[in-house]
Amino acid sequence: MKTGGARRLTILFLCVLMLAPLSGCIKRETVPDTVAITPAVTTPSASAVPSLTPSATFPPAATLAPSPVITATPPLAEPMASPLQTPSPAPTASPKPTKRPQNGSDEEPLSGLVIGVDPGHQAHSDSDTEPVAPGSSTMKKKVSSGTRGVATGVYEYEVNLAVGLLLRDMLEQAGATVVMTHTKANVNISNIERAEIFNDNSVDLGVRLHCNGNTDHSVRGAFMLVPKSKSYPYYDDCVLAAKAILKAYGEETGLNTEKGITYRSDQTGFNWCTRPVTNIEMGHMTNADEDRLLTDADFQAKMARGIYNGIVAYFKEKAEG
Ligand SMILES: [Zn+2]
Repeated sequence: MKTGGARRLTILFLCVLMLAPLSGCIKRETVPDTVAITPAVTTPSASAVPSLTPSATFPPAATLAPSPVITATPPLAEPMASPLQTPSPAPTASPKPTKRPQNGSDEEPLSGLVIGVDPGHQAHSDSDTEPVAPGSSTMKKKVSSGTRGVATGVYEYEVNLAVGLLLRDMLEQAGATVVMTHTKANVNISNIERAEIFNDNSVDLGVRLHCNGNTDHSVRGAFMLVPKSKSYPYYDDCVLAAKAILKAYGEETGLNTEKGITYRSDQTGFNWCTRPVTNIEMGHMTNADEDRLLTDADFQAKMARGIYNGIVAYFKEKAEG
């Protein structure tokens, strides 16, 4: 009996001895598990998840796991991004409920005005067509590719967008509400849609930004386009704005502005627009010297400043009658 009891005790003791390290193993295994889970769960962005997940080794797990995370993340990331990066992702960000904080003596010459800015073209052209004017059977490309710097290789859309963003900041600084047709190059917005953005926001003036190209590489200088039809409801405003902008642009940049104003009936962006609108050809990218200027960041600030000065002058002239 005693020996039986003692044996049972010994067996029990051995069991305890064997279980103790085992339970330790289990604990040790659960620890790394939870550690591994924790960062995955707490990772705030969807982009971090795939890099952490060994997706190649566990394809099913990977496909299942990220989907709820990804669907949850964009709505979270979007509102996070906009307050953080106020300058760039703010297409219609300007309708500001609060008065712009002023640094002392700064005026707001454009306060209460809505200015549309359309940086011409985009990263990829769209060769689908659309009517050049309401009711017209003449079709034009939705978005043409634009010109390109002969010396720098920079695309026109890059210059237009860079200047457009600088111009936006200056206009907002002056109290204007700015409506950008786009703030990133990788978009697809047709010329009709760009005009409609101006219409829908009832812009007080829409400014389309372009650079020109010419087979004759000696041609240089800036000029303006305005709608040709004098029956255009804002024809006089378009011309007045074009003159003011070109004058100020020439003064600020020193570029040749002798070509002046060109009147065009073939511009989709004009024909669909029902607001005062003008188009500046900021220079020729097919002229090597001018290309180097147009693609230079410091010079682009001058370009934007010149256009801005012209817009201010235009509204001043209008106010003075
Ligand atoms: Zn263009």
